[in-house]
Amino acid sequence: MKDHTSFRIGGPADIYIEPRTPQEAAQCYRQLAEREIPVFVLGAGANILVSDLGIRAAVIDMGSLRGCSVTRSEQGHTLVARAGTPMSDASSLALEHGLSGLEFIYSMPGSVGGSVWMNARCYGRSISEVLLTVEHCGSSGRIVTMEAEQARFGYKSSPFQHSGSLILGATFSLVEGRRSQIEEKMQWIKRDRERKGHFLYPCAGSIFKNNREFGSPTGKLVDSLGLKGTCIGGACVSRLHGNIIVNTGAARAQEVRQLIRLLETEVRRAYGFQLEREILLVGQWDEEEA
Ligand SMILES: Cc1cc2nc3c(=O)[nH]c(=O)nc-3n(C[C@H](O)[C@H](O)[C@H](O)COP(=O)(O)OP(=O)(O)OC[C@H]3O[C@@H](n4cnc5c(N)ncnc54)[C@H](O)[C@@H]3O)c2cc1C
Repeated sequence: MKDHTSFRIGGPADIYIEPRTPQEAAQCYRQLAEREIPVFVLGAGANILVSDLGIRAAVIDMGSLRGCSVTRSEQGHTLVARAGTPMSDASSLALEHGLSGLEFIYSMPGSVGGSVWMNARCYGRSISEVLLTVEHCGSSGRIVTMEAEQARFGYKSSPFQHSGSLILGATFSLVEGRRSQIEEKMQWIKRDRERKGHFLYPCAGSIFKNNREFGSPTGKLVDSLGLKGTCIGGACVSRLHGNIIVNTGAARAQEVRQLIRLLETEVRRAYGFQLEREILLVGQWDEEEA
C-alpha cells in the first residue's frame, strides 16, 4: 500500500481492485458484500496511515474513476466530478471556465470522494459549503443521488462516515468570477502550502483536528511544548508545522503511530485534554501497537 498513500507507508492488501466505471465499482461493491469480504475504499490515500502489516480486506481503489465537467445554466453553474478525480483538477477546470467556488481546495492532495467523505476543510471553507449532490451506492450496488443537506455535515464530518456507502461522484455549485482573481487565489494558496512545507516530505496533512475549545490550533499547542522536530525512527514532527508528521525516508507505520501517541500524551499532560485524530489508521495492527 505504500505506493498508494501520500505517507508512502503501508504493507500489502489482500485484494486490490481498480474499477474503471461507476457501474463497475458499484457491482464490485455489491459482490464483495454478498461474499462478506471486508472492504476498504481508497481515494488518493492522503488522509490515512496504513499499518506495516497491511490490510486484511479488499481495497477498492477509486483512482481510475476520473473526469469532471462544467454545466452553465440560468438555474446556476455546476461542476460534476467522478469520485477519483483529484480535487485540484476540479478546481483547475472551474478556473478554466472562469467559475469561482473551488479555489480554496486547490493543491490539497485528495480525491473528490475522499474529500466529500472527510468533508475536507481548508482556508476557512469546507467542501460541504459548495456540495450540491452526491452519487453513491450501498452494498446492494444500487446507484442513487443524494441532496447534500448542510445540516448533515459538520466540521470534518459527513454522513458517509456512518453510512458505509461508496461515493461515485459529486456535483458542486459554482458562481461567475473573474478568472485572474480566481487564479491569483489558487496560486496564493499553493504557495502558502509550499511555505508551510506540505510537499517537502511524504505526509498525510494534519494528524489532529483543530478544536476551538482548546483555544489554539493543534500545531501551536505542539509547538508550545517544543515538540517540533521530534523523531521516532524515520517519522518526525515537521519542523515547519507542529500538526504534521513527515516520513523522512523509510518511516514505518508503527513509528508514526508511536509519535502520534507521544503527542497525545504530552498535550494531555500539559493542557489536560485529548487531541482528536483526523488521520485514519487503516489495516491490521498488532495488539502491542494498539
Ligand atoms: C500535504 C497534505 C495537506 C493536506 N491538507 C489538508 C487540508 O488542508 N484540509 C483537509 O481537510 N485535509 C487535508 N489533507 C488530508 C487529505 O488531503 C484530505 O483529507 C482528503 O480529503 C483525503 O482525500 P483522499 O481521496 O486522499 O481520501 P483517502 O485518504 O483515500 O480516504 C479517506 C477516507 O475517505 C474514504 N473514502 C475515500 N474515497 C471514498 C469513496 N469514493 N467512497 C467512500 N469512501 C471513500 C476512505 O475509505 C477513508 O475512510 C492534507 C493531506 C496532505 C498530504
